[in-house]
Amino acid sequence: MEYKSSGNGFLEFELKDKIIKGIVELGFNTPSPIQKDSIPLILNGHDLIAQAQTGTGKTAAFSIPILNMLKNNSEIEALIITPTRELAIQISDEIFKLGKFLRTKTICVYGGQSIKRQIELLDKKPQVMVATPGRLLDHLKNNRIKRFNPKIVVLDESDEMLDMGFLDSIEKIFRFIPRDRQTLLFSATMPTPIKNLANKILNNPKSVKIATASVANADIEQKYYIINENERDDAITRLIDVIAPQKSIIFTRMKKEADKLSNFLTSKGYKSVCLHGDMEQRERQTAIKSFKENKANILVATDVASRGLDISDVSHVFNYHMPLNPESYVHRIGRTGRAGKKGMAITLVTPLEFRDLKRIKERINTALELFELPNNYNTDDFISTILDYKISSDSLDLYPVLSSKIDNAQLVCKLLSYLCDSLSGISKNKIKELQDSLDEAPKSKQKARTRRTRRI
Ligand code: ADP
Ligand code: MG
Repeated sequence: MEYKSSGNGFLEFELKDKIIKGIVELGFNTPSPIQKDSIPLILNGHDLIAQAQTGTGKTAAFSIPILNMLKNNSEIEALIITPTRELAIQISDEIFKLGKFLRTKTICVYGGQSIKRQIELLDKKPQVMVATPGRLLDHLKNNRIKRFNPKIVVLDESDEMLDMGFLDSIEKIFRFIPRDRQTLLFSATMPTPIKNLANKILNNPKSVKIATASVANADIEQKYYIINENERDDAITRLIDVIAPQKSIIFTRMKKEADKLSNFLTSKGYKSVCLHGDMEQRERQTAIKSFKENKANILVATDVASRGLDISDVSHVFNYHMPLNPESYVHRIGRTGRAGKKGMAITLVTPLEFRDLKRIKERINTALELFELPNNYNTDDFISTILDYKISSDSLDLYPVLSSKIDNAQLVCKLLSYLCDSLSGISKNKIKELQDSLDEAPKSKQKARTRRTRRI
């Protein structure tokens, strides 16, 4: 068989031929570090706590050994719990592809889909169930799932489930699952409540942790730009025009803002779609599809809607608004730089938000460089010196202190007065010259004429 001579790195796990075929078809040649460590332990029947940053291939790390262990006895043998419907769909797609030659049947269970439809699908006797916590618990409580006997249970993206408030539901779900099982817990980070959960539901687990020097992926170049609150739209369009990103995700804080920004971008001729939790399931799928198929190359999204989404070739992530915490920052920028590709993450920061950015910087322990927006001013030396002057981190520390005492226009004028007084080179004449030079970009002939008359 062709793949046997291809030197595929997955051969070392001695998997069934049909799974190797699925792996080859997905184009995987070498197991990622988390896969290399996790797959043998899972195949040997151990419970597992596996920690690795986003985009490192955790899905295949559990899906491959699970598929290899299925007995195909018309029961639900494997259960995967994941925080969002998008992730559930994504995981079941990956399992479908890996298990194609085994003809594995997978059911995807999530809120928003008709219960009747899900029960019909259950009648097809799937071996694998991928579910979000809320809907799964609902089915279990109402005794709707027949042939439910999972021998292997995965908690995927556990830290996300914690953030989304699912821990309670998860503990309840486990009351419905027989003790005689193998349990796997996957997470990008390991906060205390997740460790506590692991103690309750895992049995003598092995741990795998893929160490990274910094929490964030080294393939992602990270930049930030200082802007004013009212400049976000302008900054985003200027950056998009200058950088011309191939495919980008822009994160906003709220659903309404995502809608508004996406509409604004569309009105300016950019190919943008929107993704947030208030959209109908079908609208969400349409948006994801057109982004995946490059019909739109900008996706404006909120955090929750985009958790764990794996869309290949995202070249840029923009934070239109700062994320709420360092974890969210890491998850957002993890949408780019996936599977060994390079990516860039750009954050817009107002001076008042600078303190939050510093916190993120400290937590992720990684280079985050300050850049300035490409400007389009046409000015004299003095003005361009000011406009091009690099913003120092001291000034950003001072800004919130001063701006809480005085309004911005006054502050700028006071600082300019201070500057003029301390620079002897700036005489009254020089200032007059600067004013004239500003008039020299006439908006109309009328203005040009006035200027000429004044010069004479
Ligand atoms: P995580 O769950 O760790 O965030 P995913 O499982 O979503 O990451 O995988 C990220 C991307 O890497 C996916 O597009 C996946 O198909 C790809 N991938 C996973 N394992 C491999 C591999 N061994 N070789 C090449 N690509 C891989
Ligand atoms: Mg994942």
